[in-house]
Amino acid sequence: MPLYDYKCDACGARFEQDHPMSAPPVRICPECGKEKVRKLLTTGGVVMGGGSRSDAPSMPPSCGAGGCGGGMCGM
Ligand SMILES: [Zn+2]
Repeated sequence: MPLYDYKCDACGARFEQDHPMSAPPVRICPECGKEKVRKLLTTGGVVMGGGSRSDAPSMPPSCGAGGCGGGMCGM
């Protein structure tokens, strides 16, 4: 499902919308109702704020609780 970034030139509201390719693009601003919405470049899942990287290591939540199978996590 593609995710689109929209911005309203009238009130400055930004919002994301995911819809199928066949659906028409959003034109009406959900905030002010004006037809001033334009589509921004797709961010593709960029995390805003926090400085998180997509390749950040994620520990399995079950590690250390007896669910890692033993020896797989080095503990
Ligand atoms: Zn607006």
